[in-house]
Amino acid sequence: MILELNITPLNKWFPHYKKPLLIAGPCSAESELQMLETAKQIAAFYPNSIFRAGIWKPRTRPNTFEGIGNIGLQWMQQVKAETGLLTATEVANANHVEECLKSGIDILWIGARTTVNPFSVQEIADALKGVDIPVFVKNPIYPDTQLWAGALERVNNAGITKIAAIHRGFHSYDNGPFRNSPKWELAIDLKAACPELPLICDPSHIGGSPELIPYIAQKAMDMDMDGLMIETHCNPENALSDAKQQIKPFQLNEIISDLQIRSSSVENIELRNKLEELRCIVQKLDNDLLELLAKRMTISQQIGEYKKENNITIFQVAHWKKLMEGGILTGDLLGLPKEFIKDLYQLIHDESIRRQTEVMNKLPKK
Ligand code: PEP
Ligand code: MN
Repeated sequence: MILELNITPLNKWFPHYKKPLLIAGPCSAESELQMLETAKQIAAFYPNSIFRAGIWKPRTRPNTFEGIGNIGLQWMQQVKAETGLLTATEVANANHVEECLKSGIDILWIGARTTVNPFSVQEIADALKGVDIPVFVKNPIYPDTQLWAGALERVNNAGITKIAAIHRGFHSYDNGPFRNSPKWELAIDLKAACPELPLICDPSHIGGSPELIPYIAQKAMDMDMDGLMIETHCNPENALSDAKQQIKPFQLNEIISDLQIRSSSVENIELRNKLEELRCIVQKLDNDLLELLAKRMTISQQIGEYKKENNITIFQVAHWKKLMEGGILTGDLLGLPKEFIKDLYQLIHDESIRRQTEVMNKLPKK
């Protein structure tokens, strides 16, 4: 993927930037008291953080709390005046942008349900023309990095250079323990396409429960992400949205204080040499794996020819199941997890079937 963006680095616009950039606050603005209480408690631990609160809430089903609306913007102003925290909220259309700009909101973000829709993103981008405000773009609900990149491009093309991407996980039918499957590889794809783009992780929406937040936040730091957005509420049990995943400010402090922030560059020469040595071994092993795979595929092709001569179908379910079960057993003995073996075998099998199909059926002439 190619992604060329004109970016102002975080440390050029965010006062006192220190990793991780912290964005904390409730899922939704609910009352003046809830906002001020939460913000004061957060500011006591993290005076350089950004205070988040949703004013308009994109809810999957109607008749749930859909946000407090414009009055919440006044509470945001109060938070800023009384704590000095910068304020951030989600915008989903041009009207939201206008209201936020009028109320002096410092940072805007585009939510996961909006990033999927290029019309909405373009509407927001158009409303931002000529404005100098930081904008964060959450990943789309579905695992599509092109949509994520596209939304960043639209915002950037409108002249916004203070941008960052927020990784909040993806909808999937097999989420494992997570509310939204993290699919870290997609965040890595985006980072690889545009290394200067700051990446912020949202462990609250990935995890969906407080117990998973420390693990996800640490992993984000180990993936060299730049910041964290964590839903924090002075009274999470009674929250009007996302009650199950919000934490109290003191818990936020425990999580952030326990984080290990590791260096992404190796300064020490001895350490660098050792790492280089191990990386060479890994590279050689990867090459060996590829050679073996290539050999395996030529045998698959021979099997395809044999099947063709004898009029046998390419796929036989009983054989495939036996192969997979055997692989999982062997993998287990070698300490390789079942999920990994399943994915790996699926990939190898798909390529094998593709080749046998080529052998069996001549492709139609164009
Ligand atoms: C939120 O941050 O409260 C929110 C609605 O998140 P997302 O867009 O990631 O679902
Ligand atoms: Mn939320």
